[in-house]
Amino acid sequence: MQRRNFIKQSSLTIIGMSAFGSLLSNNKKAGATLSVNGKRIESRIFELAKFGVDEKGRGYRVAYTKSDIEGRAWFMELMKKAGLNPTIDTAGNIIGKRKGKNASLKPIGFGSHIDMVPDGGNYDGTLGSISALEVIEILNENNVVTEHPLEVIIFANEEGGTIGSKAMCEGLTKEGLQQKSQSGLTHAEGIKALDGNPDNLESCKRNKGDFYAWLELHIEQGGILEKENIQIGVVEGIVGIVHWEVTVEGFANHAGATQMNMRQDALLAASKFIIAVNEVITSVKGTQVGTVGKINVQPGAYNVIPGKVVLGLEIRDLDAAKIEILFKEIEKRAAIIAKESKTKISFERQPNESKPALTDKKLQQAINTTAKSLGFSTKFMQSGAGHDSQHIAKIAPAAMIFIPSIGGFSHSPKEFSTATDMENGANVLLQTILNLD
Ligand SMILES: [Zn+2]
Repeated sequence: MQRRNFIKQSSLTIIGMSAFGSLLSNNKKAGATLSVNGKRIESRIFELAKFGVDEKGRGYRVAYTKSDIEGRAWFMELMKKAGLNPTIDTAGNIIGKRKGKNASLKPIGFGSHIDMVPDGGNYDGTLGSISALEVIEILNENNVVTEHPLEVIIFANEEGGTIGSKAMCEGLTKEGLQQKSQSGLTHAEGIKALDGNPDNLESCKRNKGDFYAWLELHIEQGGILEKENIQIGVVEGIVGIVHWEVTVEGFANHAGATQMNMRQDALLAASKFIIAVNEVITSVKGTQVGTVGKINVQPGAYNVIPGKVVLGLEIRDLDAAKIEILFKEIEKRAAIIAKESKTKISFERQPNESKPALTDKKLQQAINTTAKSLGFSTKFMQSGAGHDSQHIAKIAPAAMIFIPSIGGFSHSPKEFSTATDMENGANVLLQTILNLD
């Protein structure tokens, strides 16, 4: 989301925000004493993990595959039992609704995703999905009816590019639908496999004002919370990501017959460039990250001076303007390196960039106050990974709750969060919803 849009959206939601503020101070409801069943959350994490284990024992619940479909069916059965009457929208998102006392109010939405990357972990997305269901079941068991309607959403194919939430909030392009997904199916075919209808994506669209608030509980996927011994992360925003293809052109020549001072070595220039990227990114304060994660050397032989190198540069930050400033600085350094090494360095910005998405400030405060009132330590932080909530943030006040990822591992079988941390996060989700209500 562009900053300008965010400010516009923020001012549009001022009425909603002051409501969040006043309700927060009035926390003396029956709901304040409710808490989730941590054992049930943990056992369901393990149950869901059984869907999509390949013959080598690796997790393979990739979106649109048989195991994804079976996992979704299992989840929908639980939703049915919890009275959520789940339906599938045309993008393949699973939606469950619980009535509130006041039907004229906009729903409070929450949820996540249950698909995973190949050889992925058991907590990414599943924690937020299972905890969303847990919130509903705790309310059911305690006969609590909220003022606002509640809506649980399990997004389709998060890992393949937040496809379900993108369809819901901004739409998918024709080209995007024809792209091949990890499953081997195109997204259009995959959405069909989930009982969606790619020819009628218009009808899954949500608009500004459709939700009173949106919350997503998720594992951090990095190691900050564990390292700093903090229980709850309050997400300030989801970073923007920009990619450039960087081409370094020198001159391929005989590695034996060409003297050192006569060379136009593209790989040598590229090496200096990679170091320069690291220096530029770390030269200013902040949590920005920059990576050269791809390299292709041509012609690629022992006895030929590299004539051409193609690199992949990525910069991520919460502030889109800062990404541009850092890139300008990298360009300047590249020009100096090119001159000194008698090479040419050019940049091609890639079309798949994502804008930073800031979460709602009042919702951040609501999460922080709630977590503190439950006795948890908190930290405001950014998310370095993309999430469905970044799309919802365009149409509704949205925020995310993080819990520690042990060792900072994610998208890996080593992904792990403790039962206590999961229970803590789900309790923050539950109580934040009740406080907002
Ligand atoms: Zn996720």
